[in-house]
Amino acid sequence: STQVQLVSRPQGWPTADDVRTVHVDLPDLAEGEVRVENEFVSVDPYMRGRMSDARSYVAPYELGETMTGAAVGRVVASRSDAVSEGDLVIHEMGWRDVAQGDASRFRVVQPIDGVPSSAYLGALGMTGFTAYAGLLHVARMQEGDTVFVSGAAGAVGSMVGQIASLKGAGRVVGSAGSDEKVAALTERYRYDAGFSYRSGDVTEMLREAAPDGIDVYFDNVGGDHLEAALDSFNDGGRAALCGAISQYNSTEKASGPGNMANIVTRRLTLQGFIVGYHQEHMPAFLEEMGGWVAAGDVRLDETVVDGIENTFDAFLGLMRGENTGKMVVRV
Ligand code: NDP
Repeated sequence: STQVQLVSRPQGWPTADDVRTVHVDLPDLAEGEVRVENEFVSVDPYMRGRMSDARSYVAPYELGETMTGAAVGRVVASRSDAVSEGDLVIHEMGWRDVAQGDASRFRVVQPIDGVPSSAYLGALGMTGFTAYAGLLHVARMQEGDTVFVSGAAGAVGSMVGQIASLKGAGRVVGSAGSDEKVAALTERYRYDAGFSYRSGDVTEMLREAAPDGIDVYFDNVGGDHLEAALDSFNDGGRAALCGAISQYNSTEKASGPGNMANIVTRRLTLQGFIVGYHQEHMPAFLEEMGGWVAAGDVRLDETVVDGIENTFDAFLGLMRGENTGKMVVRV
């Protein structure tokens, strides 16, 4: 099995020296174990956090161990009654072409006709669920709300726009890092308006795009985007603080919004969340999102990088903004 391992903890932007690719001989299957040939492996921003040893909501990666994370693949051999050869499964064994272990580490999923298995890493997986839970249960979006989303063309953001629109938002505005992505927001992800944060002052551009103010902010970026949202919030506004990717590779002290007092005067609610603590909404998510996907109501855009040996490059590309929709590695 070809596997990618973390060998040193990056300071600032990770480099190729922080990982190594190894070839591991797999033992014969023991009773109760299965072997899975991965089809797609996920790269996600939270992995940057786990490469550091700072305190967080999950333990840091161990140096010298294969990078873990979501992957989806096909069972090619099984010595378990719970999982059969040919089953499509998702698991958390990460950056490797072949995964092997106890059957309890693999969850069988039902393929949907015409939908690639990679969707279980995106729209029908963790990032889709993050969008759903964050928008509907953390920010508690109501029909008619004006919604602002940063990182709007990414895996989470492309789903937030579509869910907001399908759930009756009044106006949905997104920001992203290029003109092509901004075009995709309105053409593909059901946004009503968008702007590139590289083309001017975020606070001013948000004011223009949402002249009547915003009720909900879904924050993937932090920093200047959060400040812009605080400037545009209507009374009683709600923010779901999902991520702060503008700071993940920064070695400088994070600069926060200078207008936090608006939280008080406008009676705002800002709530940070980690999707794993919202599992009670998973059945509703799978039912609703599964329905939208099966009906063709949701675009499942992804950016695909080929080859397990290119997983680290895909991860770097994700943080540089080279993806539209979910970034995945095809094994
Ligand atoms: P994305 O698919 O959105 O990929 C990351 C994107 O971030 C890039 O494509 C890039 O797009 C953008 N970006 C990179 N640097 C900056 C910057 N300095 N300023 C603004 N945008 C930047 O990743 P995900 O959808 O997987 O994750 C989105 C966010 O959600 C992240 O912050 C992540 O940590 C968070 N998250 C949180 C979860 C939770 O439980 N709280 C669960 C899952 C994700 P662009 O071209 O627009 O710059």
